[in-house]
Amino acid sequence: MHFEKRTTNCGHLRPSDADTTVTLNGWVNARRDYGGVIFIDLRDRYGVTQVVVDSAHTPELASSIDAVRSEYVLWVKGRVRMRENPNPKIPTGLVELLADEIGIINAADVTPFEIVDDLGTNEELRLTYRYLDLRRPALQKNFLVRNKLYQITHRFFEQEGFIEVETPVLTKSTPEGARDFLVPSRMNKGRFYALPQSPQLFKQLLMVSGFDKYMQIVKCFRDEDLRADRQPEFTQIDVEMSYVTQEDILALTERFIAMAWKEILGTDVPVPFPRMSFHDALNRFGSDKPDIRYGLELQNVSTLAKDSSFSIFSSTVAEGGVVMALNAKACGSFSRKQIDELTEHAKKYGAKGLPWLKMADGEISGSFAKQLAGDEAARLCGELGAENGDLLLFFPGEWERACTIGGALRTEIAKRCGILSQVSKSYSFHWVVEFPLLEYSEEESRWIARHHPFTAPMTDDVHLLHSDPTHARAVAHDLVINGYEAAGGSIRIHTNDVQQRMFDLLGFEREDAEQKFGFLLNALRFGAPPHGGIAFGFDRLVMLLCGTENIRDVIAFPKTTSGLSLMDGCPSGVDERQLAEVGMRPLDTRQ
Ligand code: ASP
Repeated sequence: MHFEKRTTNCGHLRPSDADTTVTLNGWVNARRDYGGVIFIDLRDRYGVTQVVVDSAHTPELASSIDAVRSEYVLWVKGRVRMRENPNPKIPTGLVELLADEIGIINAADVTPFEIVDDLGTNEELRLTYRYLDLRRPALQKNFLVRNKLYQITHRFFEQEGFIEVETPVLTKSTPEGARDFLVPSRMNKGRFYALPQSPQLFKQLLMVSGFDKYMQIVKCFRDEDLRADRQPEFTQIDVEMSYVTQEDILALTERFIAMAWKEILGTDVPVPFPRMSFHDALNRFGSDKPDIRYGLELQNVSTLAKDSSFSIFSSTVAEGGVVMALNAKACGSFSRKQIDELTEHAKKYGAKGLPWLKMADGEISGSFAKQLAGDEAARLCGELGAENGDLLLFFPGEWERACTIGGALRTEIAKRCGILSQVSKSYSFHWVVEFPLLEYSEEESRWIARHHPFTAPMTDDVHLLHSDPTHARAVAHDLVINGYEAAGGSIRIHTNDVQQRMFDLLGFEREDAEQKFGFLLNALRFGAPPHGGIAFGFDRLVMLLCGTENIRDVIAFPKTTSGLSLMDGCPSGVDERQLAEVGMRPLDTRQ
């Protein structure tokens, strides 16, 4: 088919181009007919240019484009002229193209939704027609940011002396705390590859090989229940270095983040980033990735609660638990219904209930006010700095659980009171360090590594591996930006005996450890250098840089929260022959 190739794009023309003849190619964004004059806004990824078809200038042209509707693909040749009614909202808004010739390159059916931003089209429909959704300027802008971040990443790590190495996608499973996606092997029936949850072991082995500084922008796969900021496949900037301390890794990360923020947003990010221990993060903010752009800190009121006449408080403390509390300033006006909603929210995080107090006109009321004796209520209020109009929430329970519930309520209050929207345009960066090495998994009824089983214990805590492993801290670090875990990593175990000890602690039988990680244990016998690293959530960084809270806005073809791709319908069934080839039978759905 004939079409005239564009001589420039739809975002380019300015007054200095007036009186030149140009050709544009693009999509019809909108068409407006005013009798003898037709306006067509022509769009491509660079912008929108107004095209004018004037019957006084080209009497035949108007009728030849009768069929043209939104999303038709056109070529337009014409002369640039100044606009009578400039549109200051778009960069090309001072000029227009007076069409001499127009050709229809391709027609378009009526699209299922209009290709404009902020239309509020439901996301399922947008994802079903993702290729149309991606025509929207707001989404395209996100991908320009994403592209910039790829370029900055490669440039930064190249300048720092890193080597990019690709690691396999068909791998043996590496535990990162999620389930693996499995791929059946046709040539070795009954055996499976796992898609990598991360290239963790490969990057460590590259250190044993002597690559010294490795990086890779890499897809990782985790089969877990999805949330707004998670996808089953996502992209990491994976980094590993030899002969480094944690300080080196943190400093490198800070240089990288400062460069990305400077080049993309033009802002100076103050470095070094503040650091907070895991204990403080939980105790003060109720999360290991707290959003510290606002205060609203938790307080531990266990000292007062231990002798409380409110038995839930005193018995919790007697059993070794704590009572955490939050002063929701000026939330005393919350209705019963609102407090019930907060209670339901707390229950999602494992709370049994949500004891609360209110202070109004110097009077204290609340769910358990009547059970408090003497001046107890006043002392609790005093401890929490309560004033008239405040709402006090209490979280009794085991320390980590109580803090986590408090943290969830802290975020909820910040949302409801508009605190989050006040800070939404700002960024805060900080480190969380000194994580516990282990955590107890209720699901598996055993200790598991909090980061992953290859993370080294802090030197001061190595002896605890034998005596009191639950109190051992890890040389691990998470970078938190606005309450998102933007990166995480650690110094690794680099000796065979400590790694063996770690597997023992995690309850792996020697044989099992050998079978699963024998190759790593072997490698650690052949002169492994001390090493450590970090991995950045690439999609999350782009999301933060774009100021969106929806990770699907920065991934070209994302999955829904149920792991479906609505556009092509995957995951989908396969025919029996394909199953047989990999040694599998169809699922018997009768059971
Ligand atoms: N492999 C880790 C992860 O994906 C990151 C690291 O420890 O470097 O979270």
